[in-house]
Amino acid sequence: MNTAQAAVFTPATRAFDVREYPVAQPGPGHVGLSLRYSGICGTDVHIAEGKLGPMPFPLILGHEFIGRIEALGADAVTDALGRPVAVGDLALACVAVPCGKCFNCLRGETASCLAFGVTYAKPVEEAPHFHGGFAGYQEIQWRNIVRIPDGLDPKAVAAFPCGGPTILRACAYGGGLEKDELVVVQGNGSLGLFATAYAKAKGCRTVCIGSSANARRLEATRAFGPDVFIDFRSTDADGVRKRVREEAEAAGRGDGADVCIETSGDPAAFPLGLSLLRTRGRYFVPGQYSDRGEIAIPPHTITFRALQIIGSGQYTLDDIRAYLDFLAEHPALQPRFASVLSCYAVADVQTAMADAAAGRAIKAVFARE
Ligand SMILES: [Zn+2]
Ligand SMILES: [Zn+2]
Repeated sequence: MNTAQAAVFTPATRAFDVREYPVAQPGPGHVGLSLRYSGICGTDVHIAEGKLGPMPFPLILGHEFIGRIEALGADAVTDALGRPVAVGDLALACVAVPCGKCFNCLRGETASCLAFGVTYAKPVEEAPHFHGGFAGYQEIQWRNIVRIPDGLDPKAVAAFPCGGPTILRACAYGGGLEKDELVVVQGNGSLGLFATAYAKAKGCRTVCIGSSANARRLEATRAFGPDVFIDFRSTDADGVRKRVREEAEAAGRGDGADVCIETSGDPAAFPLGLSLLRTRGRYFVPGQYSDRGEIAIPPHTITFRALQIIGSGQYTLDDIRAYLDFLAEHPALQPRFASVLSCYAVADVQTAMADAAAGRAIKAVFARE
């Protein structure tokens, strides 16, 4: 591979253009990966729409790169988890760089680092150019890759490489999910689909509140097997509360859901979620990633019903390991995960981004199969 394509984003104009850069031998401590799958995350859409922090230079977005190791720089002999790596292995690149020095990092809470960096926030003209995921190639430190175990379908891994670890971190912060708990998932985007699959796999009675506007998304939601699906467009808040209370009564779980997981990102979902929980219920909130404004809530309900509200925004390398382990432990889920992908060439970045933003693709990925 002498050159590779990259979709370069210019924040000032919010435009992508496709450029070709030379592929060089990776520097010390770095590995070179050729594209297999590289997902477009909601975060990328938000950045492209100017809704997240400004970046001052043209760069390559993308933080869900799965590639084949083509070359290893000096001293790059293992992945971030200390497992040996070799040319030909598949690996997932994690772009997060916790500082390792702040109060939270020193407590081991690297997912909540106070000075997070990302590997791709570099000008594309700076060698080795391939800092981000929207490209045919990526060069990244060995400390930021996790080897994908043999036997795991990379196409399945590509379904939720960010959403999966995000949900797993929120669950870890919130004490996990227990068998037979009643779990309500708000939203059926990437986070919501993974949360639904995960809650079902943990043996929870699972209610998904989502949209049926897109037939493919509805089909994917149903494939992940929620016990109840509620279309939020055709059911008002009272209707949702009534349905969840009936489920709680039938399951003998008290006055509401044990756990509610907010993945929709809609501020209006928050007071609804609070009202669905049982007394002492846990509300996991990993979905309000971009600031979409304020909403009124009745705080007394938190006090009187002793609710537990758990926020979570990022994830750790260990959460990626947990995501890969989860997939390995549930092989039947792999084809279902793989089925949500819509694949695009890097050169088709405009179409891919438009389809991701409009929800036409359930999971848009750049791919070389
Ligand atoms: Zn993401
Ligand atoms: Zn830190």
